[in-house]
Amino acid sequence: MKKIGMLGGMSWESTHTYYKLINEAVKEELGGLHSAKIMMSSVDFAEIEKFQHSGDWKKTAEILSCEAKSIEDANADFLIICTNTMHKVAPIIEKNITIPILHIADATAQKLQKDGIKKVALLGTKFTMVEDFYKQRIIDNFGIDVIIPNEKEQNLIHDIIYKELCLGVIKKESRDSYIKIIKRLEKECEVEGVILGCTEIAMLIKQGYVDIPIYDTTKIHAQAAVQKAIFS
Ligand code: GLU
Repeated sequence: MKKIGMLGGMSWESTHTYYKLINEAVKEELGGLHSAKIMMSSVDFAEIEKFQHSGDWKKTAEILSCEAKSIEDANADFLIICTNTMHKVAPIIEKNITIPILHIADATAQKLQKDGIKKVALLGTKFTMVEDFYKQRIIDNFGIDVIIPNEKEQNLIHDIIYKELCLGVIKKESRDSYIKIIKRLEKECEVEGVILGCTEIAMLIKQGYVDIPIYDTTKIHAQAAVQKAIFS
């Protein structure tokens, strides 16, 4: 079994979910007392968030590259960046290490492709929804149409992520807002599924709250990491 490198803490609320999901998946594959081989670095999200919102992505890339290098030096075989948003700087991190990065958008798009989904909604931080690093990768490399919420909805989704979910706060009215947005996209844009493209959204939205299939990037990424660790 390969050693999984985890770049976490963004936020720790979802990193601990990753840790649990990865170990559960290893147990399911190998049984008994088996558990995952992991080397993790967990950053202080307050520092990262400050640089994100001031637009200093260069600084975030420096911090994450440094942590990724430590993970590599500690003999991890490959890296997962445990957040969708910070894949914005994945190309820079990639240049600073030699181990491969298992990209969260690729793992998600492969699952969408397997399920025959051709048009999908994307919920996440504004950075993830609006910029090209995430959705364009799915459109260009997998031929799946990616629809994003309107600007008012984007602001709401973004604020709930940073002001509630990353702090471990779950509110019914926020859940209702997310459900309303997903239902509108289903009705007006005919999306066949929804990507929970922020690793904390599954704390709020579960399958059953909406009719279309949900694609929980935390779960998909964790499971893909275990497949890679055991079978590649
Ligand atoms: N965990 C979130 C994501 O998947 C948001 C926190 C961050 O900005 O990294 O995008």
